[in-house]
Amino acid sequence: MPRCCVPNCVETGGHQFPRDVKLKKLWLKAIRRLKFEPKSGARVCHKHFKESDYEKIGKYSGIENQRKILKKSAIPSIFSWNVKWSVKINKN
Ligand SMILES: [Zn+2]
Repeated sequence: MPRCCVPNCVETGGHQFPRDVKLKKLWLKAIRRLKFEPKSGARVCHKHFKESDYEKIGKYSGIENQRKILKKSAIPSIFSWNVKWSVKINKN
Protein backbone atom coordinates (compact mmCIF):
# COMPACT_ATOMS: atom_id res chain seq x y z
CA MET A 1 0.00 0.00 0.00
CA PRO A 2 1.40 3.43 -0.91
CA ARG A 3 1.75 5.90 1.90
CA CYS A 4 -0.49 8.92 2.28
CA CYS A 5 1.41 11.89 0.81
CA VAL A 6 0.12 14.45 3.31
CA PRO A 7 2.93 15.85 5.50
CA ASN A 8 3.04 14.32 9.01
CA CYS A 9 0.64 11.56 8.05
CA VAL A 10 1.77 7.95 8.36
CA GLU A 11 -1.37 6.26 7.06
CA THR A 12 -1.25 4.05 3.98
CA GLY A 13 -3.76 3.81 1.20
CA GLY A 14 -6.62 6.18 0.58
CA HIS A 15 -7.83 8.14 -2.39
CA GLN A 16 -6.05 8.83 -5.65
CA PHE A 17 -5.59 12.39 -6.77
CA PRO A 18 -8.36 13.60 -9.10
CA ARG A 19 -7.60 13.57 -12.81
CA ASP A 20 -9.05 17.03 -13.19
CA VAL A 21 -6.07 19.43 -13.23
CA LYS A 22 -7.82 22.25 -11.39
CA LEU A 23 -9.14 19.95 -8.70
CA LYS A 24 -5.74 18.32 -8.34
CA LYS A 25 -4.23 21.77 -7.77
CA LEU A 26 -6.80 22.40 -5.04
CA TRP A 27 -5.85 19.12 -3.38
CA LEU A 28 -2.16 20.00 -3.54
CA LYS A 29 -2.88 23.41 -2.10
CA ALA A 30 -4.94 21.82 0.65
CA ILE A 31 -2.16 19.41 1.62
CA ARG A 32 0.39 22.25 1.38
CA ARG A 33 2.49 20.55 -1.28
CA LEU A 34 1.96 22.76 -4.33
CA LYS A 35 5.28 21.72 -5.88
CA PHE A 36 4.47 18.05 -5.51
CA GLU A 37 3.59 16.15 -8.68
CA PRO A 38 1.47 13.18 -7.61
CA LYS A 39 2.22 9.94 -9.43
CA SER A 40 -0.50 7.42 -10.15
CA GLY A 41 0.27 5.64 -6.89
CA ALA A 42 0.04 8.79 -4.76
CA ARG A 43 -2.70 8.65 -2.15
CA VAL A 44 -4.46 10.94 0.28
CA CYS A 45 -5.93 8.87 3.10
CA HIS A 46 -9.48 9.03 4.41
CA LYS A 47 -8.44 10.92 7.55
CA HIS A 48 -8.28 14.15 5.57
CA PHE A 49 -11.85 14.05 4.39
CA LYS A 50 -15.04 14.94 6.20
CA GLU A 51 -18.08 12.68 6.37
CA SER A 52 -19.81 15.13 4.06
CA ASP A 53 -17.13 14.58 1.41
CA TYR A 54 -18.50 11.11 0.79
CA GLU A 55 -21.51 9.95 -1.17
CA LYS A 56 -23.72 8.28 1.39
CA ILE A 57 -26.35 6.86 -0.87
CA GLY A 58 -25.56 5.01 -4.06
CA LYS A 59 -26.58 7.01 -7.12
CA TYR A 60 -27.98 4.01 -8.92
CA SER A 61 -28.75 1.59 -6.11
CA GLY A 62 -30.52 4.17 -3.93
CA ILE A 63 -29.24 2.41 -0.82
CA GLU A 64 -26.41 3.26 1.55
CA ASN A 65 -22.98 2.64 0.08
CA GLN A 66 -20.98 -0.20 1.57
CA ARG A 67 -17.75 1.38 0.41
CA LYS A 68 -16.94 5.01 1.01
CA ILE A 69 -17.21 6.84 -2.28
CA LEU A 70 -15.66 10.26 -2.47
CA LYS A 71 -17.73 13.01 -4.03
CA LYS A 72 -16.30 14.32 -7.29
CA SER A 73 -15.82 17.81 -5.88
CA ALA A 74 -14.37 16.71 -2.53
CA ILE A 75 -11.19 18.39 -1.33
CA PRO A 76 -9.19 17.10 1.66
CA SER A 77 -9.59 19.48 4.60
CA ILE A 78 -8.52 17.73 7.81
CA PHE A 79 -4.82 17.95 8.61
CA SER A 80 -2.33 17.89 11.46
CA TRP A 81 -2.15 21.67 11.20
CA ASN A 82 -5.79 22.21 12.02
CA VAL A 83 -7.86 21.40 15.06
CA LYS A 84 -10.14 18.76 13.66
CA TRP A 85 -7.20 16.43 13.13
CA SER A 86 -6.24 16.23 16.80
CA VAL A 87 -9.86 15.65 17.74
CA LYS A 88 -9.97 12.73 15.35
CA ILE A 89 -6.68 11.28 16.64
CA ASN A 90 -7.85 11.47 20.26
CA LYS A 91 -11.02 9.60 19.45
CA ASN A 92 -9.06 6.60 18.19
ZN1 LIG B 1 -3.19 10.84 5.49
